[in-house]
Amino acid sequence: MGLVSAKEMLQKAKAGHYAVGQFNINNLEWTKAILEVAQEKKSPVILGVSEGAGKYMGGYKTVVGMVNGLIDELNITVPVALHLDHGSYEACYKCIKAGFSSVMFDGSHLPFDENLAKTTELVHVTSQLGLSLEAEVGSIGGEEDGVIGQGECADPMECKTIADLGVSMLAAGIGNIHGKYPENWAGLSFETLDAIQAQTGDMPLVLHGGTGIPADQVKKAISLGVAKVNVNTECQLGFQAEVRKYIEAGKDLEGKGFDPRKLLAPGVAGIKAVVVEKMELFGSVGKAE
Ligand SMILES: [Zn+2]
Repeated sequence: MGLVSAKEMLQKAKAGHYAVGQFNINNLEWTKAILEVAQEKKSPVILGVSEGAGKYMGGYKTVVGMVNGLIDELNITVPVALHLDHGSYEACYKCIKAGFSSVMFDGSHLPFDENLAKTTELVHVTSQLGLSLEAEVGSIGGEEDGVIGQGECADPMECKTIADLGVSMLAAGIGNIHGKYPENWAGLSFETLDAIQAQTGDMPLVLHGGTGIPADQVKKAISLGVAKVNVNTECQLGFQAEVRKYIEAGKDLEGKGFDPRKLLAPGVAGIKAVVVEKMELFGSVGKAE
């Protein structure tokens, strides 16, 4: 199966009270690790690509070529969506042209009317092409590729206005933050989530900044309508911890331990362990059977 839109997998997840993980990719190792776990666990999966990661990998066409090649040659049969994470208006069009199956337009930092107008246009374009579109209302705290938010909670009525445009999924701030959570973090605002869900009905909601949210809060968010959870930093930490151990143990200095395939292997195992844990927590294991 080639790349698919995230729309159907998220509608199924919302109806089935589980969530599909979006795991951000950085290179070949990341992509292969995530696809292999998804296949092994029979889970649908969304590969997230930030603008920065797209640039790092050589451009969006390179990413599309790599992902399609891996799906084909690794015989990946579970549904896979390739999704632009926090895209600008221009990046959305570049990714659509390059062959992504899903894009997120992050207009949350724009005046609401401008976010509304650009999201409306992108709803028309993506729906004609059979692609999925994620929109964002109320910026999400922390920093992601230079887009800084204040950790605010979205206005449920603004969420309804954007959801009614016909987007496939909606990201809304509910006190979540990108990256590591500060010690004094107040936790997710379930009151806000509940109010958003009441206004947006069947719309799959997206929880950004999945790293460091306690498991019980993630589960509760899923029970209240979250159908997609984004994981990025946690895979990076899993990779880093294992590569650090390998080097600190001096294994890169033994025999052919310098071979990048050997040096990066523990890091890949670290990413895989995080992806397995998250798919189990989100309840997506076995949902692609
Ligand atoms: Zn995000």
